[in-house]
Parts: sequence; structure tokens; C-alpha cells
Amino acid sequence: MGGDKNTVDALTQRSMADIASERAATSFPIGVLSVYVDRGRERHEARKAAHSLIARDSAIAFSADASPFDLARKQLREKTNAQVQRVRHLRRHAKDALSRDALALAACELSESLGMKLYVHDALYVASINLFGTPEQIAHFLPLDLDPRVNGCFAMTELGHSSSLQDLETTATYIPETREWSITSPTITSTKWWIGGAGGTATHAVMVSQTSIKGTSYGLAWFIVQLRSIEDGRLLPGVVCGDVGAKAGRNGLDNGWIQLTGVRVPLNNMLMKWMQVDEEGNVSPPPHPAVMYATLIPERISSLTGIKILVAQSVTIACRYGVTRRQGPGNPQIIDFQAQTVNMLPLVAGIYVYMNTEKRMEARWNRLQIAATEDPDTYLKELPDIHCISAGLKAVGTWWGSHAFETCRRACGGHAYSSYNAIAGHIDDWGVFTTGGGDNFALMQQLS
Ligand SMILES: Cc1cc2nc3c(=O)[nH]c(=O)nc-3n(C[C@H](O)[C@H](O)[C@H](O)COP(=O)(O)OP(=O)(O)OC[C@H]3O[C@@H](n4cnc5c(N)ncnc54)[C@H](O)[C@@H]3O)c2cc1C
Repeated sequence: MGGDKNTVDALTQRSMADIASERAATSFPIGVLSVYVDRGRERHEARKAAHSLIARDSAIAFSADASPFDLARKQLREKTNAQVQRVRHLRRHAKDALSRDALALAACELSESLGMKLYVHDALYVASINLFGTPEQIAHFLPLDLDPRVNGCFAMTELGHSSSLQDLETTATYIPETREWSITSPTITSTKWWIGGAGGTATHAVMVSQTSIKGTSYGLAWFIVQLRSIEDGRLLPGVVCGDVGAKAGRNGLDNGWIQLTGVRVPLNNMLMKWMQVDEEGNVSPPPHPAVMYATLIPERISSLTGIKILVAQSVTIACRYGVTRRQGPGNPQIIDFQAQTVNMLPLVAGIYVYMNTEKRMEARWNRLQIAATEDPDTYLKELPDIHCISAGLKAVGTWWGSHAFETCRRACGGHAYSSYNAIAGHIDDWGVFTTGGGDNFALMQQLS
């Protein structure tokens, strides 16, 4: 091809025309499908409004001269922190719950670092307090006017153990005289590790720890531990935190480590919905050990949301590339090569499968959360089942995601090796989905 057809303008126009003609050839109305994907007209409109809002917001949107692909880790951190503050501000002032949710989703679709940083506070810290706290504790730790400077993290994993939670070593010892817990990291391997936000910004942690009461161990329980001052971010006495450094992906998020030395917290900082300790140190154990790990269930279900957000983006990029890229005798669109079609179409179909599975699992989990308060017997009866299903789906779904990304990368040839194509970055960001929230191999064993 040469002459006046080989200009940037002409090539762009041809690409746009190729996409337009593919869209015009669909056998279904694209608008109807978009509404279906967004689960209804109202949510669809809210999502569009959220995207439009953040695209116009200079604190959130990436500018052309500072794309996430070009920023160094320090700058990416600064940008992500500014984005988090701004998204939280917009969400606090959103006109209704629909708009609030749409803003969170749009933020996740914009950046994995931003999405994960919001997720750690909202879906791990806040959700854990709601799951493990009594109504009084929820009101205390999550008042409606919660100080926006409170930034929560979820401190479960330790340097030495994560897949085997019963081997965690951090220990909370009850002191009846002062009605306090003294929490300590007794060894190097007990250092809380990988904790999202702990590197520099988390002020509070919901932390899982062994309990020791009057010389007896009562297993794991969840504690609220303040790490840093909300005034100036300084570490509190007995707390040492650091950053885990450069990662394969999500470098805007400050994953970090935490060591505690005799940090005192009030008795009431142990979340006591399922396991109670009174002032004398008398213990009522949880009705079922699984209730103490329930926060991992929504985390695993949310990996299906990750498929909807991240895998779908890569599949979209690869399909659009297939439509606009021309190569071979007669210069056809490469999507028309049989191998491309055979590779890409199952991925498109897979997105819809996981999207609908996510919807069903979310609905079931939402019902169960209500049951946890209103009908604990049903909650306890159904918990092992949803625990198994969510573990299996997370493993199967995220392995499928890894396969999908690699297929998309290959479908874009050499151009997918450029960071600006985005798929390579998705692959880096995705790795944690197969490991975090429970390594997939360990999760598959929970199905057996
Ligand atoms: C980017 C990132 C962010 C994270 N954020 C957080 C966070 O905010 N908070 C938090 O608490 N944690 C966080 N994590 C930690 C994450 O949850 C753990 O890494 C995960 O649970 C796996 O544990 P591990 O690293 O100890 O792996 P390991 O248990 O050491 O696994 C290593 C390998 O051994 C295999 N293995 C382990 N046990 C068995 C077994 N019984 N049978 C067969 N194979 C086995 C695993 O399948 C895996 O292949 C994060 C991790 C990453 C990478």
C-alpha cells in the first residue's frame, strides 16, 4: 500500500471504517447488549455518567503526557493516592447508591492500582468489620461520619504462612487487669507481608491473629489495630511498617509489611460477632470455624468481577485489533483467519459465562449476609457450600483468565509487546488473582 492511502489520517479512517462496518453487521442491537451487560438501563446510565465524570477530572484521569505506562513507581504512587482521595470524595458526594457503585466500577476499569487500593479499604477492611463485628462494634468502627482520613488495610498474610492460616504466628494476648490485648509479631516469619496499603498509607488494619487468654490458645480472631496517626501519618508506638518494593504489577499500590511489638488495643478491638471474650477473659468460641474466614468468600467472588473488568478489556483490545489489522494475500482483516476466530470467540463467550456467574454468586452472598444477622442457622448451614463454590470458581476462573490474556497477547502479534497496547500490563496485574485470596492449587483442594 502506498501513496495518499499511507498516511496516519487515512489509516485511522480505514480502521474506524472497519470497526463501524463490523458493528453494523451485528445480528443484535449493541445498545441492548450494553444495557444487559450493565444489569439494566439505570446502572448503564450511571456507569456512563461515572466514566464521563472521571474522564473530565484531572485528579483522576491520566494526562496524555503522564500515561500510567510511562510513570515511574514513585509518580504512579502519587497519582494513585491522589486518585483514591478524589474518587472517595466524589463517592461521598454522589447523589445515590447507584452512582456511588458506578464510580467505584469506573475507577476499577481505569486502573488496577486505583481499583485495588479502593477495594482493600471498602471490600476487605470495611467488609470484614461488617462480617465479624457486633452491631455496636460496626457503629463504633464504621460510623456514618467515618473520618475520610481513615484508610483501612487487611492484614492476614505473614511472611512465613498464608495458605495455611492456622499456622499464622501473630499473637494477641489478653490482659484482664487493663482489659486490653497486647499484640506482637513474635518472629521474623510472623511479619504481616504483602498487605495492600501498609507500605505507606494505611492508618488502620483489620488483622487476624492467634489469641492467647490466661495461657490458653483459642485460635484466630480479627482485631482492629491502628497503625498510623490520621493526623500526620506517623507510625504509632510499637508499630513498624515498610514497603515490599517493586512488584510485577499494580505498582501504584503500596503493598507493605507490618511488625508489632506489644501493641495495646482495648478488649473491644477484637471483632466479636462470632467469638466473644468478656472482661474476665471467658471465651465463647465461634459456632463453626468457617465463619472466621468468611471475608475470603466475597474476595473470591470478586475475582469474577476481575474477569469482567480486566479480561474483558484485553479481549476487547484483541478483537478490535483483529478487525483493524490487515495482513496477508488480499490484505484481509486478520479476525477472518480461522485461527483468530477460533481463539477469540470462546474468550468472548467466556466473559459472558463468568459475568453471569458473578451475578448469581453475588446475589447468593448478599442473601447470606442478611441471613448472618437475621437467620444465623441458615447462614451457618449454607456457609460451607458457598465457601467451596467460591473457592473453586476463583481458581478455575482466574486460571482461565491467565489463558485468555496470553491468547489475546498472541492475537495482537508484536504490537502487544508494547506497553501501550495494555495487554502486557494486564498480564502483570493479573498474576495476583491466581495467588491472592488463596492460591489456586490450595483452593482446588478445598473442593475435594
Ligand atoms: C500483589 C499481592 C497483594 C496481596 N495483598 C494482600 C493483602 O492485602 N492482605 C493479605 O493478607 N494478603 C495479601 N496478599 C497475600 C496473598 O493472599 C498470599 O500471597 C496468598 O494467600 C498465597 O500465600 P503464599 O504467598 O504464602 O503462598 P504459598 O502458600 O507459599 O504458596 C506457594 C506455592 O505452594 C503451593 N502450596 C501451598 N500450600 C499447599 C498445599 N497444602 N498443597 C499443595 N500446594 C500448596 C501453592 O499452591 C503455591 O503454588 C497479596 C499477595 C500479592 C501477591
